[in-house]
Amino acid sequence: MVYRRVLLKLSGEALMGDQGFGIDPAIVASIATDAASVVAGGTELAIVVGGGNIFRGLKGSAAGMDRATADYVGMLATVMNAITLQDALERAGVPTRVQTAIAMQEIAEPYIRRRAIRHLEKSRIVVFGAGCGNPFFTTDTTAALRAAEINADIVFKATKVDGVYNKDPAKHTDAIRYETLTFQQVLSEELAVMDSTAIALCKDNNIPILVFNLFGSGNIKKAVAGERIGTRISLAN
Ligand code: UDP
Repeated sequence: MVYRRVLLKLSGEALMGDQGFGIDPAIVASIATDAASVVAGGTELAIVVGGGNIFRGLKGSAAGMDRATADYVGMLATVMNAITLQDALERAGVPTRVQTAIAMQEIAEPYIRRRAIRHLEKSRIVVFGAGCGNPFFTTDTTAALRAAEINADIVFKATKVDGVYNKDPAKHTDAIRYETLTFQQVLSEELAVMDSTAIALCKDNNIPILVFNLFGSGNIKKAVAGERIGTRISLAN
């Protein structure tokens, strides 16, 4: 295994599969199996989960809701995903802890950095819910922040596409996938990878990002083993 400690960012949409909303139990189970095999191979795994399959603050505010309030609803949505993921991970045989950035101690631990690190050292998966606890942020930025806090070697941004393209591969058959990119390229060309706050945080802290397709079989394991899949973003090409 090339990476000792990995921060995996799962979007809410990744959990809903082909459904337009909510959580597809079969998809969650298959992600859990992949994640379990990574931990069995000796890599420490922390997960930041999004909430876009249930609620997005921006959408709520476009419909007239107060933005900060809508963002809190979005953060609560991520907690539902986090607990669902914990259930699937534990059924796949990995002890898992959910830590939330907004305290709700009846259902999850509060986010405590040193405790999260201790869990990882004991081969438990830690799922971070409720984003970073602040409105106007995203779970992508949370992924970059938590990766820096727990000294992760890399951020895995697992998506529905197999990397970063120069244009939308769903619309353009001649779209070309980048094998590597620099943070600066992503920022100046405004490539749709993660929001600019997340990219800037990874850049400032020199934490590479690997963007790859979550749904290729065993892809998380391949990524951990350092196989050349997806697009790798780092300080220098
Ligand atoms: N959110 C927030 N602060 C955070 C993380 C998330 O306010 O630190 C809210 C925001 O409204 C966002 C929603 O939670 O739209 C769901 O998160 P996100 O859109 O990042 O989920 P994903 O796109 O990964 O499914």
